[in-house]
Amino acid sequence: RQNERESLLIVLNFAKTFFQETLQTSDEGKSIGLSYFRERGFTNPTIDAFELGYSFDQWDALMQAALRRGYSRDVLEKAGLILSKEGGKVFDRFRGRVMFPIHNVSGRVIAFGARILKTDKNQPKYLNSPETPVYHKSQVLYGIFQAKQTIRQEDVCYLTEGYTDVISLHQAGIKNVVASSGTSLTTEQIRLIARFTPNVTILYDGDAAGIKAALRGLDMVLEEGLNLRLLLLPDGEDPDSYVHKVGAEAFKAYIQQHSQDFIDFKANRWLSEAGDNPLKRAEGISDVCTSITKIPDPLKRQTLSQRVAQVFHVSEQSVISEINRQLRQQQ
Ligand code: ATP
Ligand code: MN
Ligand code: MN
Ligand code: MN
Repeated sequence: RQNERESLLIVLNFAKTFFQETLQTSDEGKSIGLSYFRERGFTNPTIDAFELGYSFDQWDALMQAALRRGYSRDVLEKAGLILSKEGGKVFDRFRGRVMFPIHNVSGRVIAFGARILKTDKNQPKYLNSPETPVYHKSQVLYGIFQAKQTIRQEDVCYLTEGYTDVISLHQAGIKNVVASSGTSLTTEQIRLIARFTPNVTILYDGDAAGIKAALRGLDMVLEEGLNLRLLLLPDGEDPDSYVHKVGAEAFKAYIQQHSQDFIDFKANRWLSEAGDNPLKRAEGISDVCTSITKIPDPLKRQTLSQRVAQVFHVSEQSVISEINRQLRQQQ
């Protein structure tokens, strides 16, 4: 088993280097891949730090190069790099795309994300490696290798949705950033962050999907005992687009000014919806209390109850009884 894992990691590293060389030295790679990254504003140090690449728009360029170097079809297939169709035709999984290697915590390439250059409705924008013995999507955070040192130093981890969010913030000097890469956040991903810091700030896209995903992830982060803040970007923006629009300093200021703890985040949404409607307000209090019941530490629950009472202008005692009522019900 150990040998199989190692041989997959070795062929994945070969593929990464092949995609990097294709991007940097081939005519197709330079004119299509590199100019795409340039248009997105990625600099050379950024392209190097994330080991970005390009896959030829050909059936089996990677496979032929790998076979010549002595790698077997079997290992290429197990690594998720090639596909075989019925009838025996075998071809590269990734073709004509810019390549984002996905690294594990120790910096080894375990999978790829791959983006088409022009979005069109008939094709998914991103194509990812399948699950393999070395890649379990639910356990991985994109960018963790590049971010981990700064996450420790800054003692906070910014959690985004996508590859380019991580890359653009890193380039802007905000390096404590990872992405859940479109999947809904998992407990394993949260525990990975917890190895480096107890503080998470969610920076999801400012659209309906982003808000929904943030609300879904919120209770899970609390359940793992982490401290949570959230930031909504202006509608239609994601961290990548917004940092390019306003620049690094303004982006940092925006985080400082607009990130909220999870209580304010939830309460504000409820309060703006409820207006004077007392039933809606009660529903809001109950909903915020549900999130507080997820927090394992009783002392933290107690302190946060005070905050909920202040925000909703109700007595602390009523908040505490609501939390206790829900806790009893959950047992
Ligand atoms: P870009 O800026 O390159 O257009 P994005 O990161 O803003 O991409 P989103 O649509 O916001 O793209 O999606 C967030 C993340 O979800 C992506 O970075 C990618 O990891 C994942 N994702 C998006 N679409 C797909 C897809 N069709 N298949 C698999 N993963 C996807
Ligand atoms: Mn989105
Ligand atoms: Mn996005
Ligand atoms: Mn984007």
